[in-house]
Amino acid sequence: MKFTYESYTELLRKLQRNGYHIVNYENWNEYDRSVILRHDIDYDIKKAVDLAMLEKETGGGYKATYFVLLTSDFYNVFSKKNVDALRQIVDCGHTIGLHFDEVRYPEIAGNPEKIKSKIIEERKLLSVAVGQDIKCVSMHRPGKAILDVDLQIPGMINSYGQKFFKEFKYLSDSRRRWREPVEHIIEAQEYDRLHILTHPFWYNMTDRSLHDSIFEFVNNANRSRYNFLQSNFTDLESVMLSGEVL
Ligand SMILES: [Zn+2]
Repeated sequence: MKFTYESYTELLRKLQRNGYHIVNYENWNEYDRSVILRHDIDYDIKKAVDLAMLEKETGGGYKATYFVLLTSDFYNVFSKKNVDALRQIVDCGHTIGLHFDEVRYPEIAGNPEKIKSKIIEERKLLSVAVGQDIKCVSMHRPGKAILDVDLQIPGMINSYGQKFFKEFKYLSDSRRRWREPVEHIIEAQEYDRLHILTHPFWYNMTDRSLHDSIFEFVNNANRSRYNFLQSNFTDLESVMLSGEVL
């Protein structure tokens, strides 16, 4: 499968053609054949907005859950730009969840109880940022101890809970690589429940290599950093010209 918007749209249509109802972490039990669409926003909220709009414009009621990091070095969920972006995702009919990175807290690594209270803390902060209650969590870089423990968090749904792995066929495009032939698995209708993780970061209008996707993200950062500085630093042009951005 190509990592293009066209291929992703085709994947969505394939799910519907094969009788999979688009559900979320709360209502998945209502249908005999269903799919949960999960998206983790690891680096770039703008790419998530693009995918959210695409899912809406495709029609067919494709509702997904977008998991957001609170501890990212790449984006700040409290900035006006990103709050607006997250609201746009919600306005498309999608849900926002917490993407939790336990690597952020090395002092409590492998301690499920302490990790649980950090998740609850982050949930409150993300709810404030987004302006609505956050009910789901997914893990970014989870350690083995957390994967094994089937973490139960009061008032929250853990997408890493065993039911979402045992009762669902889990498919993921992590590191921009499907480990299993996702399209074939959908068409075979072998599984009644699918849990599909896609990272909006990897999808583009045209097909790009892994190198080119990363290259573009890294090198575009200079331009966006200059633009942010322009709205914070008076008369930036008198110090450094826009044309000097590499
Ligand atoms: Zn992640």
